[in-house]
Order: sequence, then structure tokens, then C-alpha cells
Amino acid sequence: MSAVADRPPSPGLVDLHIHGAFGVDVLTAGPAELDRLARGLAARGVSVFFPTLVPVPLPEMAAACSRLSSWMRTRREGDGRGAFPGGIHFEGPFVSRARCGALHPGSLLDGEDGRSLDAFLEAAGPLPGRPVTTVAPEIPGGLALVRALARRGFLVSLGHTEADAATLDEAFSAGARHMTHFGNALAPLHHRAVGPIGWGLLREDVTVDVIADLHHLSPEMLRLVFKAKPDRVALISDAIPPAGLPDGPYAVWGETLTVSRGTVRNARGNLAGSVCLLDEALRRAESAGVAREEAFQAARDVPARILASG
Ligand SMILES: [Zn+2]
Repeated sequence: MSAVADRPPSPGLVDLHIHGAFGVDVLTAGPAELDRLARGLAARGVSVFFPTLVPVPLPEMAAACSRLSSWMRTRREGDGRGAFPGGIHFEGPFVSRARCGALHPGSLLDGEDGRSLDAFLEAAGPLPGRPVTTVAPEIPGGLALVRALARRGFLVSLGHTEADAATLDEAFSAGARHMTHFGNALAPLHHRAVGPIGWGLLREDVTVDVIADLHHLSPEMLRLVFKAKPDRVALISDAIPPAGLPDGPYAVWGETLTVSRGTVRNARGNLAGSVCLLDEALRRAESAGVAREEAFQAARDVPARILASG
């Protein structure tokens, strides 16, 4: 354990993407559980977090947003109740079925006629803080969705996508400046069709976030991303409710997820989120060869800057 990780920095780490931890699932948690999550995260050095929702049927999403938003409105920065919720992150529903990874394809939507965006916004309700959403711009109506969500103040992050570079350029023009769990749930890099990975590495004006548990990305890929994008990489946990609990099977989101030696897999064998919270991700990034100061910036300063943008 490094001395740096023993002493949480001030103002603390910022996690843009976390589904839960310590047995708390942000999709279903009530206020007491959310308090427990916030305190547990603070004890692990996190000062701001973005409760992240996987796509579910809209009535279920509406209930989750209502619970989360009411709890968030009871919080003030520095209120002593643990990590502060910066906003809700919607990981979908406007993402690619072909790149949905562990997300349930049945709850995904597209933006063809605008009605699904209206239904989504109505289900989300008035959102406190800075909402974040992961969008695939190549889905029907995708670029219009990026534009509409960015105009409404969402931080639009490109992810779960197989868009080509031209479409990604258009998404950038429409207001998307960031990418979700870079390297995961993206079309792979091809030498004649660089896709989201080549595009993200090239564009200096685009930031990315990465899961640094060393299972989602190899140490070499993690180093490559940091090398190609100095000062443009944020660490996220993408942690799921069993994070911080012992190995074993857990019922999460209607299926059994198995936690074993630092990985989480669903019955189909896919990686389904991580159990590596940001303090641990810092240590692992360092063990992969990322400089300590750079890793810290990625867990604290870079995400703070991303949130302050656009
Ligand atoms: Zn996630």
C-alpha cells in the first residue's frame, strides 16, 4: 500500500462512474443506504461520485431517479455525510446494441423520432447537479440526441459505440467531448478504420476515462492511453454493489454476478463492472507503470476539469 493512498488527498478523488459498493446498489438504494455508500467512499478517499444507472425499463429508471434526486437534494458539499453526489450518470439507454457489453439490450432505446428522448427526460425528472450520459452517436437519431442532451446541460460521453471517425467528429461538433471506459465496449482499432479507439487517441480535445483494475485494460494498454493523452485521462471505478465485499456470487440487476480475485463476470462470462474502487485503481495504475502524480491527476484533477467544461 502506498503512502499516498493512505492519506486521501484534498479535495479528494472524483469517480464519474460508479454503480454501487459495500452492498449498496444505486438503482434501488434508499436514503440510509446511500448515506452508507457515501460514507464508505469517503473513507476510501473519494470526495465526489456520480451514481451510475444501467439501462432498465423507464418506470424503474424513474423510480431510481426520484429516490436518488431526493437524497441528493438533502446533501451539501462538506456536510460531513461522506462523498458528495455530483450528478446522476446514465450509462445508456442510448447506446449500441452491438456494443452493449453487460448492459441489458432489452432496455436500450434509439432517438429516431425524438419520442424516446422525451420519454427518457420525463422519467429522469428534474436532475440535481451535473447529469452525465453515455451515448453511441451512430444509433438512429444519435447525433440529434447528443446535441439535445448537451444543450440540456448533460455531460455527454461517447461510449458503448462502434461509430466511425467521421460520425465521432460530428458527435464532437454536437457537444460530446469525453469518452466512457475507453477501450471497453468500443469497436477495436483497425488499421484502415480506426473507430472510437483510434479517434479517441488522436483527438487532443477529447478526454477519456478508464477502468484501471488491470482486468478491463492490460497494463500496456493503460500505459498507451496515458502516453497518448497526457492530462486527458480520468480514472473511474465502474464499481458494482459487491465492491468492498468478499469474493462470491451476488444477485445484481436480475442476474448472478460472480466476484473472483478482483474480477466480476456474468453468466455469459462477460466482465460486468469492477470491484476496484478509485484508491485501489490508483495503486494498480501505478503498478502498471503510470507515474504516481499522473495517476493522481487522473483520479482527482482531470475529472474535476471535465465536469467544469461545457
Ligand atoms: Zn458501468
